[in-house]
Amino acid sequence: MATAHDDDLACQELVEIINEYLDGALPPDERERFEAHLEICEGCRRYLDQMRTTIRVLGTLTVESLDPIAKDQLLQFFRAWNRT
Ligand SMILES: [Zn+2]
Repeated sequence: MATAHDDDLACQELVEIINEYLDGALPPDERERFEAHLEICEGCRRYLDQMRTTIRVLGTLTVESLDPIAKDQLLQFFRAWNRT
């Protein structure tokens, strides 16, 4: 079982770079940290799943077209959804 380290990616940081990750635009070292975080954080794995589902459901709308407010609302929605 992995434990948290100081250089671990924070969940908030993951959310900030998830667009780049989904685009394949992350530098290799950032991508490694991203994936390392996913391995230890179930919440972020779910979030990534939900982002992918959202992109699929919304069709032509990509994560780039989400402005920060929309992204925030999406996060609120996912949090509420996770509680059920
Ligand atoms: Zn996380």
